[in-house]
Amino acid sequence: MTRTGLNFVTGRGFQFSQALHELWIPVAITFLTLFSTLIGLSYRGSKGAVWLWLPAGMLLGALMLVKRSSRLLLLSGGGLAVCGGGLLFGETFASSLALAVGTCLGAWLCAWLLDRLLEKPFHIRKINHTLVFFGLAVLGSASGALLMAFSGRERLLENWPGWWLASLVGYLLVVPTLLAFAPGRFNGPWSRLEALFLIGSLLVACWVLFLGPLRLPVDPVLSLCLIFPLLTWTAVRFDQRFVTLTLVFLAVTAVRGAYYGLGQFPDFSQAAIPLNILVQIYILIMLVSALTLSSALAEVRITRAALKKSETLLNEAQAIAGVGGWEYDVASQSMSWTRELDRLLETTMAGASHQLTEYLDWFDAQDRHALEMAFAQALKNGMAFDLELRLADESKNAGGPTWVRTRGTPVVENGQVLKVTGTVMDISELKRIQFSLVHSEEQLRLAMEASHDGMWDWCPGDDRLEFSPAYSQQLGYRPEDMPARFNDWLSLVHREDRALVERVSSDWMEGRAESGEFELRLRTLDGSWKWFLSRGKVIGRNESGQPLRIIGTHVDIESRKQAEEALMRSNRRLEQQLVANEALQTLLVEQATRDGLTGLYNRRFMDDALQREVIRANRQGSIFSVLMLDIDHFKYFNDQHGHDAGDQVLVALSSLLRLNIRESDVACRYGGEEFVIIMPGASADDAHRRAEVIRDDFSNIVIGPLRLAATISIGVAEYPQHGVNMDELMRAADTALYSAKNTGRNKVWIF
Ligand code: GH3
Ligand code: MG
Ligand code: MG
Repeated sequence: MTRTGLNFVTGRGFQFSQALHELWIPVAITFLTLFSTLIGLSYRGSKGAVWLWLPAGMLLGALMLVKRSSRLLLLSGGGLAVCGGGLLFGETFASSLALAVGTCLGAWLCAWLLDRLLEKPFHIRKINHTLVFFGLAVLGSASGALLMAFSGRERLLENWPGWWLASLVGYLLVVPTLLAFAPGRFNGPWSRLEALFLIGSLLVACWVLFLGPLRLPVDPVLSLCLIFPLLTWTAVRFDQRFVTLTLVFLAVTAVRGAYYGLGQFPDFSQAAIPLNILVQIYILIMLVSALTLSSALAEVRITRAALKKSETLLNEAQAIAGVGGWEYDVASQSMSWTRELDRLLETTMAGASHQLTEYLDWFDAQDRHALEMAFAQALKNGMAFDLELRLADESKNAGGPTWVRTRGTPVVENGQVLKVTGTVMDISELKRIQFSLVHSEEQLRLAMEASHDGMWDWCPGDDRLEFSPAYSQQLGYRPEDMPARFNDWLSLVHREDRALVERVSSDWMEGRAESGEFELRLRTLDGSWKWFLSRGKVIGRNESGQPLRIIGTHVDIESRKQAEEALMRSNRRLEQQLVANEALQTLLVEQATRDGLTGLYNRRFMDDALQREVIRANRQGSIFSVLMLDIDHFKYFNDQHGHDAGDQVLVALSSLLRLNIRESDVACRYGGEEFVIIMPGASADDAHRRAEVIRDDFSNIVIGPLRLAATISIGVAEYPQHGVNMDELMRAADTALYSAKNTGRNKVWIF
């Protein structure tokens, strides 16, 4: 809602304050109508001719301001006011009713037609609106006057012209005034001093022409025309409120002056046309000329303001977008451009007209030709152009030339190019980025070519996968046969390597890693598998963290992998060899220390064991004993039963020895049928006791199916009692054995 409450078109739904707002105009208009009815009726000629009828204009002006739903209320109030005014003035009820109905009907008809003929809202600052309004006012007032003329005291046809003109003056006087005072109207360029001066002039003119006793010594028509220069001044320099108020003032004073025979009007009292009609026509001429001029100028001013506003908007938009605009007019062969282009060119020539060559001079000599050609094509064939050019002066920009993109579009009418319009945009930064991108991509490509490594480039957003030529060569494919999507590529990956590839790529996708590498096998064109090392890095992510681009290298590691596998194979073989060697060594050691027939330690081992035992006994101050065993008459046994049976005796004895010795004891085959047992910690007596057990057990053993038997003699010696070194000890044991043999055999003898 506006402060003045005149905006009746926006309200929706019922509210008390709103209802008040909606009511006050009809109420105010009702009173104004009553008041103007009284004025109208008071200025009447002797025959009842009316001079000025403002109620119709009041109603029409109000009808144009209020919304439709309030119109009935407005017309009822207005009608009642006119009727009441007529009754108050002593008119009959019938003629009062005729006045009211005629006034309302004329205004309503005019409003209804204005609604239909013109787009809303109705403006007196649009010249076409004003002219249509004049026409409709003539029609509305003429039809209203048909009814109003019934109120006259003369015949209808004699009354009608007066009523018509009186209400037409009312329309033209009041409607523009009301509309000019509605909010949001255009203000003229007047100053206070000028207004004062004009008001003074108008007052003087009014006094002289309408109200004063002075008669000008010129033709009265001419003298009355003196008002028009002042009216023109008002219409040209001042806003419509001022114009309409001036018109009201002039009309009222003219009517008053003429009615009372003042000013220049008495000269017309003898004219053929009644004075009131003459005054009405005079006022109408003032109204039509002033309103037409004022609305035409208002429209020009509004259009100019709108143009200026849109120009400002365009300039602002161009400044924000960094885009300059230009226009080449074919007829005048002139070029003009906007402020933003001025900024780009670092000139201050926007708005003015220039030669095309003057414009072309702003461009680099090398690129100027291309632009000239494009212009020639545009002018000749109506072809649009879009070029990237350098501006002429390089020194302006330390970082290199200023690059601009210029587009041109010819405006063609009836096959003729009337003008070419276009834009210019600074793309220096874009160019620099483009150049450095091309440069770095070129460097990357050269590096890739030099290293024979492949390169891949994956945009996960639209799942676009690209490979360098080296990559496809590595696999034997042609570049165009390479897969373009991740899943198609994955089908080339060896089944066993897919999980790894998917893990690394999901780390990239879900932001757990920015770079990574994996070794994988890929199927080559011939179906064989080849090993590669792929390294990748995420280049940029979007707001939601999705990778925008992932770039990586691809190295053929097939030969390295083959070498690794060969190494692993030989390592495995070596390991097996080692195991075999160890077994062999153990066997050899066994073979070197054991006797083949009996499995007991051999003499060499015994020598070492005895040596160790002597050292230990010396260190610990302990003792040990040795038994020396010899099978009795073994030569004879062999001779009797054969060598094999002799061997069986040797095996049986060794089995017995193994069973009868302690873990710490060492049993050895000392020679052909001689054995030695080392018993650490055992005294000669201990050894004797155990030797007795062995001798006795052996004598009870039967060998083979023939149940053969043999006996043994045993010599015992103790260290260090019977020998202080190995040789002495062995000799002592041997001596003891000799004694056992000599004393009958199958005996144990201590040295
Ligand atoms: P003595 O009671 O005095 O010891 O009489 P002997 O016959 O045992 O005497 P001698 O020590 O001279 O004989 C040893 C014999 O043992 C000679 C050899 O035929 C036999 N002999 C030695 N080594 C082996 C062997 O590995 N197998 C067989 N069957 N006999 C062996
Ligand atoms: Mg012997
Ligand atoms: Mg013997």
